[in-house]
Amino acid sequence: MSDDFLIAGQTLKPNSRTLIEVPLPPLYTHAPMKMPVHVIRGKKDGPKLFVSAAIHGDELNGTEIIRRLLKLPVMKRMRGTLLAVPIVNVYGVINHSRYLPDRRDLNRSFPGSDKGSLAARLAHLFMKEIVSNCSHGIDLHTGAIHRSNLPQIRANLDDDETSMLAQSFGVPVLINANLRDGSLREAAAEYGIPMLLYEAGEALRFHEVSIRAGVKGITNVMRALNMLPVVKSRRRKKLEPFVARSSSWVRASASGLFRKVNGLGARVKRGEVLGLIDDPFGGEEMEVVSTVNGIIIGCTEIPLVHEGEALFHIARFEDVKVVAGHVETFQTRYSPEDEVNISSDFEPPIV
Ligand SMILES: [Zn+2]
Repeated sequence: MSDDFLIAGQTLKPNSRTLIEVPLPPLYTHAPMKMPVHVIRGKKDGPKLFVSAAIHGDELNGTEIIRRLLKLPVMKRMRGTLLAVPIVNVYGVINHSRYLPDRRDLNRSFPGSDKGSLAARLAHLFMKEIVSNCSHGIDLHTGAIHRSNLPQIRANLDDDETSMLAQSFGVPVLINANLRDGSLREAAAEYGIPMLLYEAGEALRFHEVSIRAGVKGITNVMRALNMLPVVKSRRRKKLEPFVARSSSWVRASASGLFRKVNGLGARVKRGEVLGLIDDPFGGEEMEVVSTVNGIIIGCTEIPLVHEGEALFHIARFEDVKVVAGHVETFQTRYSPEDEVNISSDFEPPIV
């Protein structure tokens, strides 16, 4: 690969590994701020992939996914260029917050502008230094605060290349998500860059299954893009992904203390009891009942609920039974208890 790669005013040669620190507006305490970007360039030319995490500053699984990804020995054999940004919203991470200090959501502020709000400026910088330098992207998210998501890929599955990458990631649930106004995905689509959004786990927590599946998913996509060598399959069967037909939320019918009966990945039927809400003053116990047949792909983790709050996110599929089987296999495969299933791609779990 002969091309030099220019980022944040630095020129990077092929066969190199560099940590770039992109300068950001400083804190009002005079503390300088930087966005770290790891750039790995292979010997040979190939796609330019960005992997970003913590665009929402309290969503940390992706930061750990990137840390593990960068340590994989197979990265030495990579072709093309990987731009890994473990923390995009540095301000939010400092504050344990989804938002920026100006209370804006970065993922509603793309493509941004260099004259706009703090969020708009950070979005603009990310577009200029990262997205415009890349041919593909993966953005890593978790559920919001006190909410967990079953590992899932959200992407524009109507686009052939995006759909191929989504299928290759290796999680059982794919959601054909419409582009949201101001999201990174929408801005990347404007640049013609196929992009996946990986949603897994909960804000402010590390979730081992989500992290392992994320590391594996990114290397699967890199193999599909020919950035990593394809491994001769000594492994078990690849898990087939399923596209959800639609999804809906089941909400609290009353305020009170909430206990879950069913959790993430459970197959539920319409009319089935998903949880119970009890009044702390000893009032009547209310049942939370599923309104659809499907799989729980998101749920609340806090036992305090107000009437109308979203408690369960349920996805519908053509064949719910088959999907439920795959979800179970998936969860077992990436579970820390199942040590025999840890491939050489993974570091030992953190104890
Ligand atoms: Zn997010």
